[in-house]
Amino acid sequence: MAERYYFSIASGSTGNCGLYMADGTAILIDLGVSLRKITTALAELGLGLTDVSAVLLTHEHIDHVKGLPMFLKKAKAPVFASRGTAEALAAKDPSCADRLNEFDSGEGFWVRNVDIATFATPHDAAESVGYILEHGNHRFGFATDLGFVPREAAELLRGCETVVLESNHDPHMLQAGPYPYPLKMRVAGPAGHLSNPDCAVFAADLVRHGTRNLVLAHLSEKNNMPALALQQTVSALHGLPDCTVQVAPRERMETPVVFGEEAVCSLSG
Ligand SMILES: [Zn+2]
Ligand SMILES: [Zn+2]
Repeated sequence: MAERYYFSIASGSTGNCGLYMADGTAILIDLGVSLRKITTALAELGLGLTDVSAVLLTHEHIDHVKGLPMFLKKAKAPVFASRGTAEALAAKDPSCADRLNEFDSGEGFWVRNVDIATFATPHDAAESVGYILEHGNHRFGFATDLGFVPREAAELLRGCETVVLESNHDPHMLQAGPYPYPLKMRVAGPAGHLSNPDCAVFAADLVRHGTRNLVLAHLSEKNNMPALALQQTVSALHGLPDCTVQVAPRERMETPVVFGEEAVCSLSG
């Protein structure tokens, strides 16, 4: 029996970091909070920094890389970033350049026993990406910070049993909210963030293609409410096969989302 789970350490406009675990391979997705918050969350799961197998960065915005400099000082795990993200990070802090493993979006690689695929996301960053992590017969998808779901991303995400999907804002709250007009346009635009209704439509598509666990992520603090995001997606799934839906809280989750618990046949044991 292989233990597989996802544990959101932080999610939202103020910081993003999650832990994917499969059969002893621990992969952090983004490092957008302080290293102290990350190590505290890992400790609760009985893990330390030396247990981290790799880090996957989605893009260079501060809510995704705040803990990166300290992580590079204290941990040895390889950090993967798209070429554009790596260049943007190195331009700001040249010391991290030789510690980043670069790839082109669309390129895949392995972290131990986990097969990783990458896809471009439409967002106002240098070269933002989402990820598919495949272990045994289980596919896990991660897509936040995207103005819309492009066809290539949709094709990769379909068939993932578990998906972490952005449900950033309620369009009415955004419109009526405190953001200055240009920022409202940016968030709602094609290189911004996925809204609750757009998330709900794509969630239904995913569930029709086999998704059974959804984690709604990167909720805006000012332009969304967890109950609103949840209600919008849950109502879009009415009449479709069962799928658990939960919202990743701003701070760490109470319990990990455990998935794909069926026994995995493996020749290497
Ligand atoms: Zn961003
Ligand atoms: Zn973000």
